[in-house]
Amino acid sequence: MTFDFDLFVIGGGSGGVRAARVAAQEGARVALAEEDRYGGTCVIRGCVPKKLMVFASEYAGMVEDAKAYGWDIQPGRFHWQDFRTKLYAELDRLENVYRGLLKNSGVQSYDQRARLSDAHTVVLEDGTKKKAKHILLATGGRPVKPGMPGEEFGITSNDIFHLDELPGSILIVGGGYIACEFAGILNGMGVDVTQYYRGAQILRGFDDEARGLVSDEMCQRGVKLHLGTNIVEMKKEGDKIRVLATNGEESLFDQVLFATGRAPNSDDMDLEEIGVTLGRKGEVLVDDYGQTTVPSVYAVGDVTDRVNLTPVAIREGMAFVETVFKGNPTKPDHALIPTAIFTQPEMGTVGLSEEDAREQEPIEVYATSFKPMQQSFAGRSERVLMKLVVSQKNRKVLGCHIVAPGAGEMIQLAGIAVKMGATKEDFDRTVAVHPTMSEELVTMKTPVRTG
Ligand code: NDP
Repeated sequence: MTFDFDLFVIGGGSGGVRAARVAAQEGARVALAEEDRYGGTCVIRGCVPKKLMVFASEYAGMVEDAKAYGWDIQPGRFHWQDFRTKLYAELDRLENVYRGLLKNSGVQSYDQRARLSDAHTVVLEDGTKKKAKHILLATGGRPVKPGMPGEEFGITSNDIFHLDELPGSILIVGGGYIACEFAGILNGMGVDVTQYYRGAQILRGFDDEARGLVSDEMCQRGVKLHLGTNIVEMKKEGDKIRVLATNGEESLFDQVLFATGRAPNSDDMDLEEIGVTLGRKGEVLVDDYGQTTVPSVYAVGDVTDRVNLTPVAIREGMAFVETVFKGNPTKPDHALIPTAIFTQPEMGTVGLSEEDAREQEPIEVYATSFKPMQQSFAGRSERVLMKLVVSQKNRKVLGCHIVAPGAGEMIQLAGIAVKMGATKEDFDRTVAVHPTMSEELVTMKTPVRTG
C-alpha cells in the first residue's frame, strides 16, 4: 500500500502537536488536522487562560496586603474587558507559536475536522482522503453538563473566557479542579460566588486534610460553598437564572457555571466502525503503548481518559514517537505525577493521599499547618499545610501535599525527590532554606499520626 503520510495526527492540542513535531523531526512525513484552534484545551480554553485569570484575580488581595505593609495604595476596580482584550491577544500569539512549530517542523496542517474510513484512511471535512501508515488520535475532551432540567441556561468553562462582562453573581456546580479553581478566580475578581458540590467534601480523591484546608480557606475568602447540595432545576427569570437546590433553597444568579466533568472527543469519527474499541465514557481504549484495538491507530491525551493533564499528554505523545518511529518501545510513566490545583490557596500534590497510603501499608504522617509570615504580618488569618506521608517499612515518602501560595512551584521540586524514591531521612538531611514556608518539609521531627 502506498501512503500519503507516515503519520496523520488528528487534534492540534498539547499531545498531538508534540507527537507530530517530534515525528517530523525524525524524518517522518506528517500531517495534522485540527477543526478548531491550535494549542487545544490547554492553550486556548484551559490551563493558560485559567492561570492568567488566577494571576488577575490575585491582585485584589495584594493591594490589601500592600497597605498592611505600609504602602499608601487604594484598591481600584477590575476591568474585565481590558483583561479580556489582552487575554485574547496572548492566546492569538500562542496559537501562532503552535502553528509555527508545526510549519517549521515540516508538518502539513489541515484546518478541518477529520474522521476515519478505515485503518489507514483519514477523511477530511471537505471529502479529501489521505492514507497514512499510522494514525494518532489526539482529539482531547470537552466539558459536559450533567443533564438537569434547565441546564441550557448554564455555561461551561469553554464559555467563561468569552463573557462580555463579569456576572454580579454566579453559581458554580461541581467540586473538581475546574469548579474550585473558578470559584477562587471569580471570587477574587469581585463576583459573588456560590458553589454547590453534591459530595461531602470538594476535590474528591485528594488528601483529606489538604482538601479540608482548601475548602475552609475558600469559605474564609468569601466563596459560599454548599456541600451535599445539587441543582434540582433551573429556570430563566428575566436576565437571571432561578435555581431550585436539593436543600430546598431557591436563589437567583446572573450565571450558572457547570464544572461537572469532561467527556472524551471520540464521537462522529467512525472509530467503532473501523474497529477501535471505546470505553463506557467514550474514551479510546489503548494498551500500555497507546495502541488501540486497530494496530495502525494510536491515541494519546484526554481522549483516552487516563490522567487528563497536559504534561501527561505530551509525555504520551513522545512515548508514541519513541515506540513507533524510533524503534524503542516506550510506555508513558503514569506513576507519581506531581500536580497543582490553582485554587486560592493553591494545592500541590504528588503520590498517595494519607487515606490511600494507609490502605496500602503502615505509615507515619508528618504534617504542620501554620500562618505564613508574609500573610500573618499583613493581618490575614489564613493557614498553609505541609505534609509528608511516609512508609513505616522502607521510610520512603509516599506522598507530599502542600496547601500554600506557590504550592504548584514547590511540588514540582518536591516531586523530583519523591520520584527518586527519597526517604524521610533524605528530606531530613537536607538543610532548611530559611525563612520559607517549605522549610517545614525538612524540619518535621515527630509524626502526628502513625498506623
Ligand atoms: P472532575 O471530574 O475533576 O470533577 C467533576 C465534578 O463534577 C466532581 O466534583 C463531580 O462530583 C461533579 N459532578 C459530576 N457529575 C455531576 C452531576 N451530575 N451533578 C453534580 N455534580 C456532578 O472534572 P473537572 O471538570 O473539574 O476537570 C476535568 C479534568 O481536567 C480533571 O480531572 C483534571 O484532570 C483536568 N484539570 C486539571 C487542572 C490542573 O491540573 N490544575 C485544572 C483543570 C482541569 P463527584 O466528585 O461526586 O463525582
